[in-house]
This record gives sequence, structure tokens and C-alpha cells, in this order.
Amino acid sequence: MDKVVVFTGAGFSAPAEIPLQSNIIKEMFYKPTPSFLESTKESKKLLKSFILIGLFLLDEYSTVDTAELHSMNRLFKRLNKIYEINKVNNDDDELAIEQIKKLNERTNYNPFCEIAAFDMLDAQVYRLLLLLKESIREKLVKSRLLVNLEDVFTIFDKAIKSKENWHRFSYNELDSLEHALLRLFTYYFGRRINSFNNFNEYDSFIKYIELHKVTVISSNWDVILEKNFIHNKIKYDLCLNSEYYKSDLRNNNLNAKSIKYLKLHGSINWFHCLECGTVNLIEKKDIGTYLFDDKINEQCLQCKASSNSDMTLLRPEIITPTMVKDIKSQLYNNIWKKAEYELNMANKIIFLGYSLPIADFEIRYLLKKNIDKKTKIDVVLIETDKPDANNNSPEFRFKSLFSKNEIEFHYNGFNNYFKTV
Ligand SMILES: [Zn+2]
Repeated sequence: MDKVVVFTGAGFSAPAEIPLQSNIIKEMFYKPTPSFLESTKESKKLLKSFILIGLFLLDEYSTVDTAELHSMNRLFKRLNKIYEINKVNNDDDELAIEQIKKLNERTNYNPFCEIAAFDMLDAQVYRLLLLLKESIREKLVKSRLLVNLEDVFTIFDKAIKSKENWHRFSYNELDSLEHALLRLFTYYFGRRINSFNNFNEYDSFIKYIELHKVTVISSNWDVILEKNFIHNKIKYDLCLNSEYYKSDLRNNNLNAKSIKYLKLHGSINWFHCLECGTVNLIEKKDIGTYLFDDKINEQCLQCKASSNSDMTLLRPEIITPTMVKDIKSQLYNNIWKKAEYELNMANKIIFLGYSLPIADFEIRYLLKKNIDKKTKIDVVLIETDKPDANNNSPEFRFKSLFSKNEIEFHYNGFNNYFKTV
């Protein structure tokens, strides 16, 4: 039997209608629909991240005057400080009330008045956040911002690593900015993924990989495939060294029959604990709910450390193509090494919705180095990917990188492709 490796790119997740990674910033421009606002109030955590990133983008990539927005932001920060101080006291409500009652038995002091005042302060902080966020969103729309996501990540990544400041941002601030951007990502992806139920679009693919026990390698961050695995009760192995991760779903009861799934750029449901270093896999719950729910604290599954809204504890574990070359973490080393091995062993490789972009240098190197000349290659794309006159098509890129291989191109989408193979 053929040893098959399936390699998935952005097009593989197209049926789920999640935003393209490169278009994620545009998601910030859309006005939240009333029904969306009613059902899920945007959390303070999310609004704060939006404001940080929105101001950064306007300052760095537009001609918009942001002075007014910055002064609003300073006002928010002052108000928030008062709120946070009060919140710490409020967390021990009952104990505090008892103490105050005892201390003030002979006076008419009523601690409940303070709690009412605190709730009002909470509402004020929230209103200001919402107002600021909307003002920034409107400016973002008006500015017709054209910004490349890779550029933004490169700034964060390079400045943080080399401890350089970037314009008026210190590298510490850039670190918070990067985290805020990752948080927004998780939100915009997660929102769509949580409501995904188009499983029928993946039926033929799932049948095929189960029958052939293929290995899947992916450049995607989303968890559409995991959702399909869980839906179909298929065991899958992310090939993370068990010492490094803890999942809210599995107890490492994987076996030889599990389907290997290698995510080269990480995943939006992997969260790195800054306290103990463990990677938390959120497979059962909705992705990173604690990143947008003010009532839930971030908490590590391994060391149980927990954090309130203003301190980062768990960091989404995703990397962009340009970041790959600098990654020295054990986590990615293992995944990339396993991918090399699987590609070497394969005698057939099926690319699904992957266009072999020039910017994916590291992936192109990995593929070129480890795919044998005798390995058969199938490339499955859609109608609009068909070659044009400019030699700028995926077909051209595949043919030039794998000039010696036998390559077949299919333009009917992967659901149709797997119905025929
Ligand atoms: Zn931890």
C-alpha cells in the first residue's frame, strides 16, 4: 500500500469560511452586528487588545491624527487603575464586609454603598472602552489601511528578540502588543471555528485518511481538522512530546493507529504557559474562552497557575512563515523533524488547498529536501487557482520546484477529489 502524506494549506479550511490568515487585520474593520453584540458582549480583555493594536496600526501605517484617541486612552488607563485597585479589595468581598462590619459596629457605615459605587465604576470603564474601540474602528475604516500582516509580526519579533525599541514603543510594549495581536487572532478565528458544523464537506477526505492511515502535515493554525477528527471519533496524534503538553481532552492514550497530524506553524488552541513552560491544548472547550471572557481567569492545566485579565499567563502558540527560521523551541524542532521523516518515507504526497507561496521559504526548503524524485505528487486546488498567462500560478510553482516528479493537478476541490481516488 502507498505511504501517503497529505499536506494542507489555507484552501483546506475554505469550506469553514474562516478568514484567511493574511486577511485577519481586516476583521478589525467590521462593525459588530447588533445580534452579535446582544448575544455576546465584547469582553474588556478583547476591547483592550483591539485598542492597543488599532492605535499601533494607525500610528505606524496611516496618516490619521491619533492625538485625540491617545488622550482618551490615557483617561481610560487612569480610570482603569482606580477600578483595578478597587477590584482587588472587592475580590474578598465577604471577608472584607465582615471585617468592616466589626470595625464599624458603632458607626452607621454601610459597606454595600461602596460595592454599588464599584459596579458603577465598572460600567464606566466598560463604556469608555467601547467608545474608544468604536472610534478607533471608524478611523481604521476611513484610513483604508493597507498593511501586510507579516510586516507587523516581523516588527514585533525582531524588536523583541534584539531588545530594540521601535519608534516610540519600547520592546516591553511591543511584547504586550504582540500578545494583544495573538489574542485578537484567536478571537477572530475562534469565533468562526466554534460555530463550524459543515462536516459533510470533509466526509470523503475523512474516509480516505482513515482507510489509508495517512499522515497529515499542515501550515494552518486553525482547528477545522481537529474538529472533524473529534466529530468522527478518530484518534489523532499531534506528535508533541508528552512531557511538554497537557490537553483538556486526552490523557495521552494514543496508539499506533492514531493519525499523525503535524502543525508546522503551531495552532490557535495551543497555549504556552509562561509560568511552567507547558503547552496547554484546548481541545474540548471552546478555543481560548478565557482570552475573551472577563469572568474566566487564564489558568494553566499543568501548574494550575492562574492570572487575572491584566497579566499574561498563557500565550497562543502560533508562528508566521518568517518567524520559522528563528524558532529554537523544542516543540517546533520535534514537529519539523517528524515532518522531514514522514515526507522522506512517503511515496505519494497530496497537497490540498496549498499554493506553495514563495514567502513560505522554510516549507519550500523542507519539501524540496525531503520529497524524493520518485514520489508521486497530487495537487488539489479549485477552479480559480487554474494557471494564468503570467506564470504566476500554483501549478507553475509546483512544476518548477518539483521538476523531476510526476505531478497531477486537480481543480475540483478536495471533496470531489477524494470521491474519485
Ligand atoms: Zn503552567
